[in-house]
Amino acid sequence: MRQRRIQLIRSTLVQKMEELRSNADNTISKMKDAEGNFADSFDQAAIDSNKFVELVCRDRERELMLDVKETILRIDRGLFGICDHCGRMIHEKRLSIEPMSRLCTECQEEKEINHKRKNRQWAMKGISYNHV
Ligand SMILES: [Zn+2]
Repeated sequence: MRQRRIQLIRSTLVQKMEELRSNADNTISKMKDAEGNFADSFDQAAIDSNKFVELVCRDRERELMLDVKETILRIDRGLFGICDHCGRMIHEKRLSIEPMSRLCTECQEEKEINHKRKNRQWAMKGISYNHV
């Protein structure tokens, strides 16, 4: 992949990172507001469940943020686009669609097949235990 293209992806990622960061800040200040306004009211349960949803979302955003950050680091270290598993170059098309992918298509497929196989083995084990 051309350096210019990589830099373009990098700036998109930096922008995404900023977005996620400001979202996280908003969530925190929203949560603080809600606590201040309703602290003594019977709506506490509703606030708690809202808070739970917010926290789950934030957790996901934090994970995404880590992924974005790592991808930026990979670009800076010249490791962007190299498959973690086999060391070959990840196809440019794949990187354009999913810049954060760390596996080439072949390794990703292999991983998914293995995952399915493992799940099936677990399921079969479950059945044989039931029969004992
Ligand atoms: Zn690979």
